[in-house]
Amino acid sequence: APGTVLITGTTSGVGLYATKALIDLGWKVITANRSPERAEKAAVKLGLPFRCPKQLQHISIDLSDLDSVSKGVKDLLDKLDEPLDALVCNAAVYMPRLSKPRRSPQGYELSMATNHFGHFLMIQLLLENLSKSKRPVWKGRSWGIESSRLVMLGTVTANYKELGGKIPIPAPADLGDLSGFKEGFLDPICMASGKRFKPGKAYKDSKLCNMITIQELHRRFKDSSVVFSSLYPGCVANTKLFRNTPKIFQWLFPLFQRFVTGGFVSQPLAGKRVAQVVSSPEFGISGVHWSWGNRQKKNGEQFSQKLSERITDPETASDVWDLSMKLAEVN
Ligand code: NDP
Repeated sequence: APGTVLITGTTSGVGLYATKALIDLGWKVITANRSPERAEKAAVKLGLPFRCPKQLQHISIDLSDLDSVSKGVKDLLDKLDEPLDALVCNAAVYMPRLSKPRRSPQGYELSMATNHFGHFLMIQLLLENLSKSKRPVWKGRSWGIESSRLVMLGTVTANYKELGGKIPIPAPADLGDLSGFKEGFLDPICMASGKRFKPGKAYKDSKLCNMITIQELHRRFKDSSVVFSSLYPGCVANTKLFRNTPKIFQWLFPLFQRFVTGGFVSQPLAGKRVAQVVSSPEFGISGVHWSWGNRQKKNGEQFSQKLSERITDPETASDVWDLSMKLAEVN
C-alpha cells in the first residue's frame, strides 16, 4: 500500500516529476520548499493533485538555513498523524559561475549548506520518525510490513569510479583532508578541503557528501527498518539545475547528452525512477546507489552502481558524519 513521503525541492525538475509519479502510485506527498506557493503553482500546472486534495501538501523549509530546517521539521512532526514512510532528499543548487562564494545564514558556502548540511540536519531530525513507519504490503499470501525509505539524489559527477566523475572541469569531487570542515567552514573558508574556491566543484563536493551520508547511514543503522539508498536518475540535462550556466551551454548540453553520450533522460522518466526507488520492493536493499547507466538503453534495468573509495571509505565517512553533526548544529 502506498504511504506518505516527504520530498524536498519540487518547484521544478526531478522533484516535481517525482511528486507526480508518486501521486500516480497513490502516495500522499508532502513537499518541502523555500516557497510552498511556487511549489503549489508548479504542481497545479501539472494537474496535481488529481484525486484528493489531501494527497498533496506543501510545507515551508529553506534548506540553506539550519533554523528554517529545524523549525519546518518540528512543525511537520507536530502535525503528522502517522510516521513518514519515506524521505526524498532532492533539492539542490548548482552555481558554477560564481566568482566568490555565497553564504548561508549560518555563514557556510551556499551549495554545501543547501545540498548537504540542510539535508543532513533534516535526516537527523526525521530518522526516528521514519523508523516507526509500518507501511503494509501484500506479500503474495498475507500482509507484511514494507521497509521505510530514505532516498538521496546522487550524481555521476561525484563518483570517481565513473568517467563522468573524473571530468576535470573545474575538478573532480574531492574532500581532501576535510580541513575546511575541521576549521569551522566559515569565511574565508569555502571548500570542505580548505582549498581555493571552485564553484562547480563546490556542487560536486556537496553531492559527494550526500552520497557518503547514505553509505554512513547504512553502516550505522544497518539493523533499523529504514532502507538507505541513493540514485543517479540519468542526465536530466534540461532542468532548471543548469539555470546558472551560460545560455549556449543550456542549449548545447541537452543535445550533447541526447545525441552524443546517449545519457539524456526526460524529467518524467527521472521522476518515475525516483518513485520506484521510494516505493518498489525491488529497491528495498539498503546501502545501494542505483543507476540505469550513463548511456540510456530502451527498457534498461536498474543496477547497483560501483562507488569510488571517496564515497565508501568508512574512515572518511565517519569524519564527514562527525563534522556534519557539528556544523549542521545537530543536538
Ligand atoms: P532543479 O533546479 O530543477 O530543482 C532543484 C529544486 O531544489 C528546486 O525545486 C529548487 O527550488 C529546490 N531548492 C533549491 N534551493 C533550495 C533551498 N534553499 N531550499 C529548498 N529547496 C531548494 O534541479 P534538478 O531537478 O535537475 O535536480 C534535482 C536533484 O537531482 C538534485 O539533487 C541534483 O543534484 C540531482 N541530479 C540532477 C541531475 C540532472 O541531470 N539534472 C543528474 C543527477 C542528479 P527553487 O525554485 O526555490 O530554487
